[in-house]
Amino acid sequence: MEVHNVDLTISAVRPDQYPKTDYPEVALVGRSNVGKSSLTNTLINRRNFAHTSSQPGKTQTLNFYNVEDQLYFVDVPGYGYAKVSKKERERFGQMIEQYLTKRDQLCGTILLVDGRHAPTDDDVSMCQWLTYYQIPTLVVATKMDKVKGNTWNRQESLIKKTLGLSTQTPLVLFSAVSKKGKETVWQWIEKQMGM
Ligand code: GDP
Repeated sequence: MEVHNVDLTISAVRPDQYPKTDYPEVALVGRSNVGKSSLTNTLINRRNFAHTSSQPGKTQTLNFYNVEDQLYFVDVPGYGYAKVSKKERERFGQMIEQYLTKRDQLCGTILLVDGRHAPTDDDVSMCQWLTYYQIPTLVVATKMDKVKGNTWNRQESLIKKTLGLSTQTPLVLFSAVSKKGKETVWQWIEKQMGM
């Protein structure tokens, strides 16, 4: 998709605050610092539109980005913080769960993992959870410019194996620096949108 217009429509904490449109929505999930804002900015051709807001302890919201009045990217706050309280984590877990399992407009989820390392236990849990709820998922391995070219295959296998990916769940190796993988991610999104 050729993107020119994007705006942050709403930061929601409750379902009644979600947009009232029927545009398809693609959720982005991953640990904080994995590169979610950078992927979003790359997809919409902006340098600094989506900001890292993942300050531990800050109020966590679902951020809906309206893309060309055709689609929403829904930035789901990063999981796996050490510093938020248990209560806060539970409240926040419920909000995410409610959104991901009940939202009719959701057409797919992008799960981001750090391409430099093996996926963490949190990543594995999230992936299993998405599979259990049969939410169409694309895994994106970020920061691949930091991984030597001759180890890409090994890294790809490690990520697939650790997450236990089935053939239905594709994996894209991505870099916000080189933009590698950007077109493949867009192709997957457009397919989910039924384009
Ligand atoms: P978020 O917390 O998941 O939104 O993560 P950000 O997009 O803010 O990225 C966290 C850090 O990783 C920042 O310092 C980014 O510059 C860096 N980063 C993100 N993506 C890439 C990438 O593809 N390559 C490199 N080299 N750094 C990246």
